[in-house]
Amino acid sequence: LSERLSGVFDRLTKQGALSDDDVATALREVRVALLEADVSLPVARDFVKAVQAKATGQAVTRSVTPGQQVVKIVHDELVAVLRGADDPGALKIDNAPAPILMVGLQGSGKTTTTAKLARRLKDKNGKRVLMASLDTNRPAAMEQLAILGRQIGVDTLPIVKGETAVQIARRAKTHASLGGYDVYMLDTAGRLHIDEVLMDEVQAVRDVANPRETLLVVDGLTGQDAVNVASEFDGKVGITGVVLTRMDGDGRGGAALSMRAITGKPIRFIGLGEKMDAIEPFEAERIAGRILGMGDIVALVEKAQETLEAEQAERMMKRFQKGQFNMNDLKMQLEQMLRMGGLESIMGMMPGMGKMSKQAADAGFDDSVLRRQIALINSMTKKERANPDLLQASRKKRIAAGAGLEVSELNRLLKMHRQMADAMKKMGKMGKKGMLKGAIA
Ligand code: GDP
Ligand code: MG
Repeated sequence: LSERLSGVFDRLTKQGALSDDDVATALREVRVALLEADVSLPVARDFVKAVQAKATGQAVTRSVTPGQQVVKIVHDELVAVLRGADDPGALKIDNAPAPILMVGLQGSGKTTTTAKLARRLKDKNGKRVLMASLDTNRPAAMEQLAILGRQIGVDTLPIVKGETAVQIARRAKTHASLGGYDVYMLDTAGRLHIDEVLMDEVQAVRDVANPRETLLVVDGLTGQDAVNVASEFDGKVGITGVVLTRMDGDGRGGAALSMRAITGKPIRFIGLGEKMDAIEPFEAERIAGRILGMGDIVALVEKAQETLEAEQAERMMKRFQKGQFNMNDLKMQLEQMLRMGGLESIMGMMPGMGKMSKQAADAGFDDSVLRRQIALINSMTKKERANPDLLQASRKKRIAAGAGLEVSELNRLLKMHRQMADAMKKMGKMGKKGMLKGAIA
């Protein structure tokens, strides 16, 4: 995506707000790039639509190009879609022995992942874990799990020839209870393709074990297929999360996005190699950066935005010191307050303001007031904003009506503005500190 987009972005160097054209051009490339990263078509389409709505009209930060800015927006949206469970690495393992069912196609990495997770539960959570292979099709598969178990110091259920998967699951349950295990993991047989025999078997095992977690193991290198597999398994067996394996390869991880968007199930872990410690809890930022392949630009845009805000504040201070504080300034302050998490959070951050914040809330002064005030300012003309003294009765009526509010509310806003302008002037003389306090007082 990097190279593809940089070409387009180089052409989008003009400043100002993101125009429809800027956004459309950049997003065409984003869409192609998503498809190349194995994101499924409908998911890519919906995704691009969501970004388009957010990006159009956004102010472009100085020192980055509009294209780079679009990438930042794309990145943030990706993270938002990918983010699932609060703590993806925390498996539900209360009520010992807690059953964990591992499902997926053959070769996806189920057996390896079973052992990796068992090792984590043992080392990180101090749990006693029992692993059982239900792969009756291939005796070698049972032996594979036993070997891994010895390697990581985790017990495996003794192999009994001739049992069905359901019988093994029952025995694992009993063995785990009697043996005082905290967790038992069932490593099911996979098949090359989804078929009814496989699904019936997994359903039967599920009914016996009643698992706390059912983790679908999917090869992260299989794009579109992975999504079908996930939908099937979720529909037939019900999964609590996904483990994406082979994320150490050069696949872009687009499957992660499709799977999350289509099944709604959180990605819990990613496998990063064949070794037993090559597994990590899922991090949305990392995968988003990987799908886009341009983490640097995101950091750059963030930095530029910070700088811009600092510069803006500086310019405003200079004007306040000269006693200039018009409606545009007030609007910016109000918007900044909203961005910072609203009145309550700002007051909460300032020493001694906790009580005031409660008083303000009791008086009905909350974030909706901020929004109404912004609406009133929006309803003023350019001239009126620059010079609020112009506001006579007829203008006031028009403005209030335009914002769908009462004139009395506009009067309160004007009074507040006057008080703030006075306070700003005094504070301007005192220096930069206290600007925020003055804005609220
Ligand atoms: P199963 O058939 O689903 O049980 O798959 P296996 O656990 O036997 O894994 C199949 C192959 O994939 C083995 O050679 C594993 O070592 C390998 N494998 C599993 N997970 C990963 C991973 O995250 N990265 C890499 N590179 N290889 C993996
Ligand atoms: Mg296996």
